[in-house]
Amino acid sequence: MTPRPLMFFGTTNLDLCFNVERLPTPGESLIGTVTRNPGGKGANQAVAAARLGLQPLFYTRLGCDQAGQSLLESLREAGVCTEAIEIATGEVSGSALVLVGDDGSNMIVIDPGANLNVTPEMVESAAQFIERDAIVVAEMGMPIAALSRLFEMKGEKGFELIFNPAPVRPGLSSQAWRSVDFLTPNQAEAFELTGIAVSDFDSAAHAASRLLDLGPRAALITLGAHGAYYADANRSFALRAFPVKVIDTTAAGDAFNGAFAASLAQRLPLREAVRKALAVAALCVTRRGAQNSMPSAQAVDEFLKAQTILELE
Ligand code: ADP
Repeated sequence: MTPRPLMFFGTTNLDLCFNVERLPTPGESLIGTVTRNPGGKGANQAVAAARLGLQPLFYTRLGCDQAGQSLLESLREAGVCTEAIEIATGEVSGSALVLVGDDGSNMIVIDPGANLNVTPEMVESAAQFIERDAIVVAEMGMPIAALSRLFEMKGEKGFELIFNPAPVRPGLSSQAWRSVDFLTPNQAEAFELTGIAVSDFDSAAHAASRLLDLGPRAALITLGAHGAYYADANRSFALRAFPVKVIDTTAAGDAFNGAFAASLAQRLPLREAVRKALAVAALCVTRRGAQNSMPSAQAVDEFLKAQTILELE
């Protein structure tokens, strides 16, 4: 069966990644080793889906600089369709400073650059690429006015909308929240949106019901090493994370979102789509980096096969 069309809207950054023994405290200087990697939430999500064999479209805004060129090339190489991407004359590309400790924890500072200047008109023009029956994925790094326009177009375009509310910011109307099909916060974002601290599946269930009050059709909360919790008006379930040796948790949530969207596009049943997203995110945290830590379809299939054998034993 042919997959459903898939399009991501979001940010792209060049990540300057420092590997350090542990994260610094304020005022402290540490020695680390640096690498430059393509990143940005939207870009990571699109690459996660492309690595699984989809040909997702991606709308983002890059600066007219060397970073923008190399970001565009790496998206193409990963198999992302880049024809909707804008290159902003006279602007710089987004960049991020990422610190990763030996225990896999991270700290991130972002300069959004050209990502910050996406307008509703730009999104409207990019939306011409959205085909019938598409799945659209958005994150919260784009300006709220632009996101709101995208969500408004759901009515006329008829797409299914996955919204990863990261980083959480105010300003979305209640109508915009109601247009979301799958709202996918992590624990911290679920807390920011509901005021409920999410530490396990019970508290996730509580937070999910509050999230549903905001208006989305379904809430899908990721809980790091615990796994993920799904709820809509008719059903709910929790799935445990796959146990793996964590090297770097950067982009775990992006891997999850990209893979969940790709799995829905591949028409997997909901629970299987969540399970596959957990597998992709688990493999992502066993590797360093953001986009370069996204696993291939084959790696995920092999991983899931090995897990099934373990589950049967
Ligand atoms: P974010 O990266 O946005 O903070 P999470 O920390 O919730 O998001 O991680 C997203 C997903 O990544 C989790 O639902 C899980 O599938 C996977 N994941 C994260 N940390 C681990 C871990 N230590 N072991 C296995 N899977 C993990």
